[in-house]
Amino acid sequence: MTKLFRIFFVFSLLALSFNGFGKVRVLTTTTNLKSLVEYVGGQFVDVESFSKGTQDPHYVEAKPSYTLKASRADLVVSIGLDLEAGWLPLILRGARNPSVLMGKKGNFVAGEFIDTLGKITTPVSRADGDVHPEGNPHFLLDPVSALSIAKKLKDKLIQLDEGNASEYESNFKTFSDMLNLKIKEWKKRISVGTKVISYHKTLTYFYHRFGISNIALLEPKPGVPPSASHILGVIKTANKEKVSRVIVENYFDPTVAKRVAKDVKGLSVKVIPVSVEGEPKVLTLVDLYERLVSAFEGSK
Ligand SMILES: [Zn+2]
Repeated sequence: MTKLFRIFFVFSLLALSFNGFGKVRVLTTTTNLKSLVEYVGGQFVDVESFSKGTQDPHYVEAKPSYTLKASRADLVVSIGLDLEAGWLPLILRGARNPSVLMGKKGNFVAGEFIDTLGKITTPVSRADGDVHPEGNPHFLLDPVSALSIAKKLKDKLIQLDEGNASEYESNFKTFSDMLNLKIKEWKKRISVGTKVISYHKTLTYFYHRFGISNIALLEPKPGVPPSASHILGVIKTANKEKVSRVIVENYFDPTVAKRVAKDVKGLSVKVIPVSVEGEPKVLTLVDLYERLVSAFEGSK
């Protein structure tokens, strides 16, 4: 080995080790995004999520350790549509890593590729609650939307790590073939027209995909806790419509749902995870969809 080559060799090794042995370091805002990156990135990515699966992603604390992680990241993946507006900009500003700033190569906003549901065209104020004018940000709970985001993530990973392009392509194909089969099976398990009451509009896209009717919400406005008068209205509607399930995301308090179930014949409360790692056995997005489908299958 010539001296020059030896120096070059040592430097390349150093560069590799700084880069987590060549892996693309990815930070996601949610565990659902994390799972999606893992499906597509496989062994070539090192992924961490800022929020936990048991946490409401609207409210996350911008911890100093997150800023440090972002300063070393190759890619920051977020949902967008204002979901992380209260905390992600703080993390990115503190990280001093220009390549992961909004609009840069190392920044990916999934919501940019979604034709959202629940867009608000009229002017909104604080009094309307915690609304998302550009549309509902919980689109990854629809497996078809997740697939379209996985495709875009695959393109992004190829852009950042061209050498492993064929691996990303094949991971995506495996994921997409598997998910398409599952979606067919899930559609058979849920009866179209199943009526439910929900806490927050978290499952809007899932309901839309599987033909579930969301009759009422326990929240009078997004982010606003239920009031007594609102609950009475929900009970009335539930009795009239013969709703069988009231759904509560496991980071909300189920007390109100139980109160409603007491006054509505045949209504059962289902406390469900809505994020990967939101329950011990829910380790991937597919596990999560399985869990959701099982909460809605059976009698209407
Ligand atoms: Zn929301």
